[in-house]
Amino acid sequence: MVVELISVGTEILLGNIVNTNAAYLAEKCAALGLSCYHQSVVGDNEERLTEAVEVACKRADVVILSGGLGPTQDDLTKEVVAKVFHKDLFMDKHSKERIERYFKSKKAEMTENNWKQAMMPEGAIIIDNENGTAPGLIIEENGTHIILLPGPPNELIPMFENSIRDYLNHMEPGIIYSQIVKICGISESKVETIVADLMEEQSNPTLAPYAKMGEIHLRVTAKAENEKEAKKLVKPLVKELKVRFGESVYSTEENTTLEKAVVDLLLANKLTVATVESCTGGLLAARLINVPGVSEVFKSGHITYSNKAKRKILGIKKSTLDKNGAVSEIVAKEMAKGASLVSKADVTVSVTGIAGPDGGTQEKPVGLVYIGCNVCGKTTVQENHFSGTRAQIRENTVAAALILMRKCILEYYSQITFGDKSEII
Ligand code: ATP
Repeated sequence: MVVELISVGTEILLGNIVNTNAAYLAEKCAALGLSCYHQSVVGDNEERLTEAVEVACKRADVVILSGGLGPTQDDLTKEVVAKVFHKDLFMDKHSKERIERYFKSKKAEMTENNWKQAMMPEGAIIIDNENGTAPGLIIEENGTHIILLPGPPNELIPMFENSIRDYLNHMEPGIIYSQIVKICGISESKVETIVADLMEEQSNPTLAPYAKMGEIHLRVTAKAENEKEAKKLVKPLVKELKVRFGESVYSTEENTTLEKAVVDLLLANKLTVATVESCTGGLLAARLINVPGVSEVFKSGHITYSNKAKRKILGIKKSTLDKNGAVSEIVAKEMAKGASLVSKADVTVSVTGIAGPDGGTQEKPVGLVYIGCNVCGKTTVQENHFSGTRAQIRENTVAAALILMRKCILEYYSQITFGDKSEII
């Protein structure tokens, strides 16, 4: 089955909003085993939207449009699709009542154009919108399935999860089953090189990589008559990926985040943890504290932003700071050691870096970050060079700190040797 996505909206074309709907839908469709060869963005223009719909319907089995279902004159997705398939629009009583109820519950006043959202093409399957006024709809025409979804992500995502996913899954006989392999500490290009042969020969199951911040996820998807058969197809490839990536695989569970994997590792080894952060200002502690049950292991988080705080709280010598600067390997090391003395935690992680946009020099540019990790007295420091905005540098730093923690704990317990330093991202 081939799916094609059309995102409707002049705001997307102009770059005023980021097309997160397309990214979301593409990922979900791939997970369902649908092949997506084309995506397009069209402004609120009848002629160009008509052309996009006609072209997409010629080359795809499923066409998903998002946006342009609102009440105003420039919202014309439904009208264009109805015209392409020569369908009249009629007032759908059920949708009309729901829209009325929606406005009543919000104590908002309805305007005449709100009724436009209850006008539906004849023969369409109507999908209730639990979070807004524009219903979604599906038209089946000459073997092509055209799905219209509202633009706001908080309306589109629940509609997809609650109605569209099942509809797509049942279009063909058989079921789709997928499993994820989550990898950290290896660059995206290296991961792709390692799986190049598997990617080339894939058919059923398929293998799709997704890059996340500091991590790569590989999704293995199989289609079969039933779940048992699909699992049987997926299993050998997942096994092969585990062999190829070894300890770099931190989970094969959908709901396990990197921070959860780290907390699980601490729990399993009965280790307590403390963080000491400069440029990340508590982001690392916050990510760890996201994990339910972390109270068993998390002792304290310190933000030692100024040099004075580094001296007073962690006992770092003034001469060390003056000689090396706060952003240096030795200070990261001393911070991790100091945190260990202050907190008495088994594992302490320190972060010191230049998040920018100012404050960089030729010798110490923006993006230079040192992360220290002390596991039961053994301290490791990693030098990182990140790029991007202040926010991106800080988030990358947190991901790298979690990966370093995991690596140091694993190495401490089993002397596992990871790749060389340059492979750590
Ligand atoms: P509404 O009923 O709110 O008018 P709609 O279906 O007409 O919904 P649009 O008017 O096209 O949708 O978009 C409404 C808002 O939804 C946009 O301002 C934007 O914030 C968000 N949105 C629309 N399309 C996308 C997209 N492709 N990716 C992310 N956000 C989007």
